[in-house]
Amino acid sequence: MPLVLNASASLAEQVVKVGHAHVSYEGIDKPQAEALARTLDAAWKVYTEEFGFKMPGTVFCIVECGPDQPARLYTDGEDHVYLSLPSKAKLAKPATSGLFNLYGMCHELGHIAMYRTLKDRDWMTSAAAEGWAHYAGSAVVDRVWAAHGESLWPDPYDYREDGLARLHKQLESESPSEIDRGAGQWEKFEKILGRKGFARLFAAWEKAGADPTQPAEALLAATIGVQPDKKGAVEAWWKTASGLFLSPMDKSKVQRKTISPARLSGHPLALTPDDGRPDGKMSIAGGGHARKFEAPGPGEWYIRSVSVFGSRYGYPRPPAENFDVALCDGQMKPIAIWKKPYSTFERGEPTWVKMSVPPTRVPKSFYVALNFRPTATKGVYVSFDSSTKGNSVSSIPGQPGEPFEDGDWMIRIELDQPKEADALEAK
Ligand SMILES: [Zn+2]
Repeated sequence: MPLVLNASASLAEQVVKVGHAHVSYEGIDKPQAEALARTLDAAWKVYTEEFGFKMPGTVFCIVECGPDQPARLYTDGEDHVYLSLPSKAKLAKPATSGLFNLYGMCHELGHIAMYRTLKDRDWMTSAAAEGWAHYAGSAVVDRVWAAHGESLWPDPYDYREDGLARLHKQLESESPSEIDRGAGQWEKFEKILGRKGFARLFAAWEKAGADPTQPAEALLAATIGVQPDKKGAVEAWWKTASGLFLSPMDKSKVQRKTISPARLSGHPLALTPDDGRPDGKMSIAGGGHARKFEAPGPGEWYIRSVSVFGSRYGYPRPPAENFDVALCDGQMKPIAIWKKPYSTFERGEPTWVKMSVPPTRVPKSFYVALNFRPTATKGVYVSFDSSTKGNSVSSIPGQPGEPFEDGDWMIRIELDQPKEADALEAK
């Protein structure tokens, strides 16, 4: 468990445990904390048993309540839910407080259910992500009612009003929000593959490792793959859903052009601009590692491989996640993004790690970028060489280049040319 979460957990001193829920709190009454815990535990059971998600053994909820606290609810997407409130009166039923706390617990667990499986979702809009939590949270509220009824909340009320009935009302309104419409699409998917279909869908999408610059095809194929005999219904659903779910990426104007490896000369040229001796290493939270290259001459050049001098840190077992290797134009806008498993990098001493990529044409001037999405417990240290500088940035694809001042990242590449352009082979 990340240390920072333990630190904030210790701020709230009182604790209530119910089944799979662990609520630590300050500034609210015990019966209120118990109601939150009972709600979380009941929702946990629905996500586990009815939806078939693999939920964390315990869900931790941290409640901080006091006059200087904003009304706020969010999750780390793993196993923590954070609730802050300006006063404990804000835990009253929605008609009195204006806040949907009971639904909110079910909604946040929905995010956890999705995010624990689907980590690789740069392509996803908030209409899809928030729409999912809205749909799932609403559906789960109804099931929590079925299990516990009115007595669940200290301020008893008919909370079925906060369930699917509310979503349906929103969808019937004059102009439903994008999130409501996203939620409506998830409900449509349920009609095709049932509640257990979601866990399988998210696993299939994660496995697909879709390139966020053009994810549609890979995601649709993965969606059909969940249950091929429902292909027609899934395709019809995707036609509408994809318009809401796929985030338009700020792509490069440079067209992606690939070529079959068989049409290349087979004698790649290695670009090795560093001196081979690392002078330091870094992992950058919220950032990345990108190095600029120039095509070595006129004609068509295709990138074949990317090598990085680095090593993984964190738990001994690599996270079951992908990181990104990207080809970007001279303005750091992505032309192509490839997914590689975290297990590509070992822990321990940094070393050269070579990754092949589908042969893709490079423009005259371009960046090769790595995005590991590091945290305190997972990441890759990329070494840099200080014998040169000015060719590297510490940004991720799509962000303006943030110059890296200490040297250049130790990133090497191989480029190849089509056979017909290879003068030596042609003779
Ligand atoms: Zn949300």
